[in-house]
Amino acid sequence: MMPVSTTPLLQVIGLTKHYESPRRWLIPQQAPVLAVDDVSFQIDTAETLSLVGESGCGKTTTAKCVMRLIEPTSGSVLLQGVDLLSLDAPAMRQKRRDLQIIFQDPYASLNPRLKVSDIVAEPLINFTTLSRAEREEQVQWLFAKVGLRPEWASRYPHEFSGGQRQRLGIARALALKPKLMVCDEPVSALDVSVQAQVVNLLTDLQDEFGIALLFVAHDLAVVRHISHRVAVMYLGHIVEITTRDNLFDKPLHPYTEILLSSVPVPNPRQQANRRLLEGDPPSPSAPPSGCRFHTRCPLAQAICKEQKPELGLRQSAHWVACHFR
Ligand code: SF4
Repeated sequence: MMPVSTTPLLQVIGLTKHYESPRRWLIPQQAPVLAVDDVSFQIDTAETLSLVGESGCGKTTTAKCVMRLIEPTSGSVLLQGVDLLSLDAPAMRQKRRDLQIIFQDPYASLNPRLKVSDIVAEPLINFTTLSRAEREEQVQWLFAKVGLRPEWASRYPHEFSGGQRQRLGIARALALKPKLMVCDEPVSALDVSVQAQVVNLLTDLQDEFGIALLFVAHDLAVVRHISHRVAVMYLGHIVEITTRDNLFDKPLHPYTEILLSSVPVPNPRQQANRRLLEGDPPSPSAPPSGCRFHTRCPLAQAICKEQKPELGLRQSAHWVACHFR
């Protein structure tokens, strides 16, 4: 298990989420889906940790477990030392002030029947005692903070572009000045030209308010731009976690190497050197024995099939789960 600094803002320890298949008469019960398995990491104030990996590796499930939008099977999620998983519903509701989420689809996450001013004001209504006039003033301030014109406040979500809708989602998340924002693929549904604007907005807000970001993404260019540290997930496990520069300049885990190498580049010569992952990811309900990556790893040897490699410190601030790295 990874060592932890004295008081990280968020500390996730041994987080596990297994989905049991439903019991059906006369049909043998299927093995549970091991979506997230013994995941540990921490995030400090004003830090961005990105979770990357193929679809289905468990990164979004991890993020939703941190928010308790999904109840984990086991583990701990400590926010400033308080285990969120031990809180009852009223106490958890109070904690939600400190934890906000930005969703992938900015349109689906905004109620189309509400004016956007009401959408952004919702957390203020639910969690503060501000008067109507104070709320309106705060909404105007939030609009300005996320780069939207305050006079658009009486419009409806469909009157905004995708990028503007994501800005509305960010304004709503910012309303209570959270300590941690979980960003679940927040720019993957946006045009490339708009992605940079939204990513820069998030980093500006982080600088100004000291917000920590748990950033889930599959676009490695975006991850490289926004992250302080990156955790690479494969089949429910973290296989490498380190600083952004370490990960992109000196990746150690074979999976990370291939993941980085598979990014398309405009240079045809470099393109020829790309390495691609062979085959599909194994089923999370029947993960391979030993190292879960051994069925696709070009370096796999006999021990990889038998022994699970532990996540261990290989170099300064560089943790890897591989027998040979
Ligand atoms: Fe590959 Fe073996 Fe390392 Fe797993 S432990 S990544 S199979 S070399």
